[in-house]
Amino acid sequence: MSTTTSVCELEIRERRLKSVITYHGTATDLNEKSKTESLKCGSRTYQQCSDCSQGCAETVTYLLKDAAVIVHSPIGCCSSPVHAEFQGEIVTRMRGLEVQHAKIICTNIREEDTIYGAGDKLRKAAFEAVRRFHPAAIFIHSSCAAGIIGEDLESHAERLEEELGIPIVPVYCEGFKSRIWSTGFDAAYHGILRKIVKPPTKRQPDLVNLFNFMGSDTFKPLLQKLGLRVNYMVPMADIETISRMAEAACTAHICQTLATYVASALETDYGVPEVKAPAPFGLDWTDQWLREVARHTGKEDIVEDVIRAEHERIQPELEEIRAKLKGVRAYIFAGDSYAHSLANMAKDLGIELVGLTTLHHDQKTDGGGDVLNTLGHLIKSKGEVENYSVCNKQPYQVFKIVKKLQPDLLIVRHMNMTILGTKLGIPAVNEGDVNVSAGYDGVIKLGRRLHEALLRKKVLTTIADHVELPYTDWWLEQDNPFYFDGGNEL
Ligand code: SF4
Repeated sequence: MSTTTSVCELEIRERRLKSVITYHGTATDLNEKSKTESLKCGSRTYQQCSDCSQGCAETVTYLLKDAAVIVHSPIGCCSSPVHAEFQGEIVTRMRGLEVQHAKIICTNIREEDTIYGAGDKLRKAAFEAVRRFHPAAIFIHSSCAAGIIGEDLESHAERLEEELGIPIVPVYCEGFKSRIWSTGFDAAYHGILRKIVKPPTKRQPDLVNLFNFMGSDTFKPLLQKLGLRVNYMVPMADIETISRMAEAACTAHICQTLATYVASALETDYGVPEVKAPAPFGLDWTDQWLREVARHTGKEDIVEDVIRAEHERIQPELEEIRAKLKGVRAYIFAGDSYAHSLANMAKDLGIELVGLTTLHHDQKTDGGGDVLNTLGHLIKSKGEVENYSVCNKQPYQVFKIVKKLQPDLLIVRHMNMTILGTKLGIPAVNEGDVNVSAGYDGVIKLGRRLHEALLRKKVLTTIADHVELPYTDWWLEQDNPFYFDGGNEL
């Protein structure tokens, strides 16, 4: 058994990566403090909302092509299958694949199960999943309820594996364990590494693992220019393909926050090198990323020609877009590393970045060092970000930050954050399909979308004039958006 998979459960991000959910200051200050891991994961004295590790585990596992997921939880924790079904249909069509349906069963743990145990329900659900979906593997998502009653998922999984003859993969994504919901990504990948991935029997020198959420097929045309194939991992892939990911020439990802754990484990355990460059968002980061991919795949002799040709190809439209966006001020609100990628692209487009909020911040990365520190890369390539904060989505807080800074545009990673812009009369662009902004064409596409969003300003101002905010006059009068932050001092 490999070093990574010798334990059934992975350490949470607060402990492993010294992650934090509160901070306000400058990018440089945060980066310097992170180098010595000198911030503690403080809390807020008031929280309006939160998310759960299970949500991130869902993102990784719900759309596997031929696997079923059992959510071992009360029914309320299992709220996303409809969303998964909807997304699955859209994204599979976008990629030209056969339409895929979510294969999810919730055990619906009830009050009496927390006393007498919910093992029977789990067992019945596994047999029912086989009857309905004929899966090649079953994932079991844990939950707060399953964790608190000490449900022994390992024993259940072992027994079910013997009876059903397919991998049964526990995913320890109980919401109460970590304040950093991205811990759920790591928990799902850890399960995949333990139970699905096989040691390689051969290498595929032209195959690049690409860990992403789902989204459009942007990387195929980009990597084809180097004569390489992309192995999209793991949503929408089948279990057989996932099991052979250790055969790839190297591992890349669309975001350090999403996938440095799995990439680093593949490198340590199976010798698949991780592409140690910022993700390919923005011109300079795409150059660096391609060079690093080329280094691992023996394509150094052609990569500079590809980069030069790509810059020349997009230059005329890039100039046009920069002229249209001249003087525009933007605020970014997204997950940790992906916010840095967006900031890098915004500055390529000539936009002034007035501030940035990340949903959490990892003070270090798995397998890291400076080379995977995207905040450091951003400061190095584009300079200081004066208004930098970390906030796990609290609308009451971000509302005040954005209101104070009055940007012309919001660039956000999740759809629900666009509503914030609407309430303030500020156009917001949602980066839902992250893949679409990757590479050289991605910069152009983002530029076009930002310009189109600015044209909606009038209707948003009209809506904002009629919005009734849920906040008290006292809160609206407060100057300090960080009033309820507990602080990060160790
Ligand atoms: S697992 Fe816990 S935090 Fe997550 S949805 Fe269920 S009760 Fe909420």
